[in-house]
Amino acid sequence: MKNYYRIGITNEGKLLQENHDTYYGVVIQGNFAALYKDWLAAYLRQLNKPFFIDPRTEVFGLDLNNIKKENDFRVSFQRLIDHFDRSSNSKYFSAKLRQGKLSPTDFILSKKPKKWNIKLINVLINGTLSLQNNILNLDTSSNKRSIKKYLKILQELENEDKEMSGVEHIVAPYFYFPNTFSPWFEINVKLLNTMANKAKDSDVYCLLCFDNEVLGNNEEIQKIIKNYKQAKGFLLWINNFYEIKMDINNLKNYKNFIKELKKAGKPIINLYGGFYTLLLSKYLKIDGYCRGIGIGEGRDVENPATGGGTPNRYYLQLVHNFMVEEVAVKVLGRNPELRCKCNICSPLFTEIIKKIKPPNDQSLALEFINRLAPQKFKAHFMHSHNSEIKKVSEDEYDPKIELNKEIQSTSTKQLRELDVRMTHLDRWVKSL
Ligand SMILES: [Zn+2]
Repeated sequence: MKNYYRIGITNEGKLLQENHDTYYGVVIQGNFAALYKDWLAAYLRQLNKPFFIDPRTEVFGLDLNNIKKENDFRVSFQRLIDHFDRSSNSKYFSAKLRQGKLSPTDFILSKKPKKWNIKLINVLINGTLSLQNNILNLDTSSNKRSIKKYLKILQELENEDKEMSGVEHIVAPYFYFPNTFSPWFEINVKLLNTMANKAKDSDVYCLLCFDNEVLGNNEEIQKIIKNYKQAKGFLLWINNFYEIKMDINNLKNYKNFIKELKKAGKPIINLYGGFYTLLLSKYLKIDGYCRGIGIGEGRDVENPATGGGTPNRYYLQLVHNFMVEEVAVKVLGRNPELRCKCNICSPLFTEIIKKIKPPNDQSLALEFINRLAPQKFKAHFMHSHNSEIKKVSEDEYDPKIELNKEIQSTSTKQLRELDVRMTHLDRWVKSL
């Protein structure tokens, strides 16, 4: 099971480097790739992990205010728009967006006979393709001062003989479709096929970004398989699908969807998955899943992009979920056996016990959470989650037995009284 982290803010770059052995690869947002082009070229070579790019073209077919701050596009999305203009040698894309978001009639000029807007399709195809193909290349014609610095890093790396072949697979531009009857579905298929024909030497994956009503409908699943013949693999973004919040029925539909889609015999990677997807992989062959570091287990397509940070949340392996600091102090204070033994937490516990000698478990827990730096909350999650992945991959690991043990344990420890969220465990075990 390949676990990828979504890289969306630069200060996570260091985290991914320092905890290099806790994950398989990274996924880069298209707008981020456009904004930090030079930095990424050097960084990805240094990181030396498999990666691919999520083009993030869906934002242009949704409420544009999602990617605006007051009246202007957020800088990363502006750079993505500039990239589309530059790669098509025209201002066509930015001019189009000045009239508002893209709609199906921008793509399908007439229904009978069918007439596609080839120009718009080509702008999207060429733009997303060059973004992905050139991600490791520096634009040396640019006279930005930073280029020199990155060029030096790249030369040093080349001396170390680090070969990198580029993106793991190419992802076709995509738009959100509520269901397969929406005109957006047909547009997505057209974009995938055009991309697959253009990039014949690459593995072109489609990104299916849809509502969870599709999950329970076999007719729709068959339509996806039939129409996406040219896709070499499937990336999933089920709108607003949070494994932790979903009811049993939704989870069962998700399971069935994967089971049916798997019949196409192609790799499947869930772009917004978590521990439940990991458990499902014990029964169905799911190839990978992606998530943010400590956040982003799900996503609403209409969620406005923000540049803000996230509050500190401490991951508790027992419930496969996060706790706010206050709850974490209570839980760890009452249950010293739950103290994490990972490379991040264990040395800190030892240090506090030696130097401060807290009078009781509660003070120790408080000191621990207070001293844990924001980046360490995330690093702990990476280590803790990595050990979960290893545990689940063992042959003798039985998801239902383990979940039932955990449910039992949370009740013995009376964690519910401490406001620990755990009802998902019960839904998970019933839906597997
Ligand atoms: Zn830890």
